[in-house]
Amino acid sequence: MRFDILTLFPGLFAGVFAESIVRRAIDAGQVSVNLHNIRDYATDKHHVTDDTPYGGGGMVMKPDPIVYAVEDVLGADLVRRQKETVNVEVPVILLTPAGRLFTQAMAHEFEHYGHILMICGRYEGIDERVNELVVTHEISIGDYVLSGGEIPAMVIVEAVTRLVPGVLGDMRAMVEDSHAHGLLEYPHYTRPAEFRGLRVPDILVSGHHAQVERRRREQALRRTLERRPDMLENAQLSPADLRFLASLKGESDQSD
Ligand code: SAM
Repeated sequence: MRFDILTLFPGLFAGVFAESIVRRAIDAGQVSVNLHNIRDYATDKHHVTDDTPYGGGGMVMKPDPIVYAVEDVLGADLVRRQKETVNVEVPVILLTPAGRLFTQAMAHEFEHYGHILMICGRYEGIDERVNELVVTHEISIGDYVLSGGEIPAMVIVEAVTRLVPGVLGDMRAMVEDSHAHGLLEYPHYTRPAEFRGLRVPDILVSGHHAQVERRRREQALRRTLERRPDMLENAQLSPADLRFLASLKGESDQSD
């Protein structure tokens, strides 16, 4: 998996990619992360990358350095081709709070491409013509505003890297993660079996595989109903799941 990231602050990424899973994936050759300083593509002598907006307001990133950078990294032909057709070869992602919300399904989609490029905005954002000329996806990581697209880019690198085959030693962990199957994940426990008077549920200690699986499924359903009931509309639910959810709803009706 290859990531190209266009940023005014490449130094921000150093610590995040120098440790843990992303670092191991880079060292193993499963992932490459290439940082490109947008300032290097400014053509004036002071390497200016932002300017005052037409119509007034805060500073806006100029279109030319960003477009030159994308074309240099991906090749102008590819960039033009994927804007002219609907056939995306390398997603060119603009990080923006005005974009579509990033989801686990999108992480899978990006992993399948094998190569993505991300553009990190700063200031009030980016000249709209960058969208028209090179961008294929506008993505937000949440309904809040950060000062730059660097942390959103790190979020996407981390989420996609976990999905690259071989990166996570324990594939089961990935399969059961929250959002992997449309439910939040069940709670985890490890030793000691009792801590400050709180005991690990007996079923988990029993080692009875089928009962453990059923309990975990029910805990996942309970959490999702309590915290993210919207997710249940699209989750794949068995008749047993539906019966369990109905019993939970019955419990809450009785306590009302
Ligand atoms: N004026 C912009 C707006 O209201 O949509 C916000 C600009 S923000 C201060 C600067 C940059 O941070 C954006 O261009 C974008 O790259 C990044 N950014 C901020 N919040 C983000 C979010 N929730 N998701 C993705 N990128 C974000």
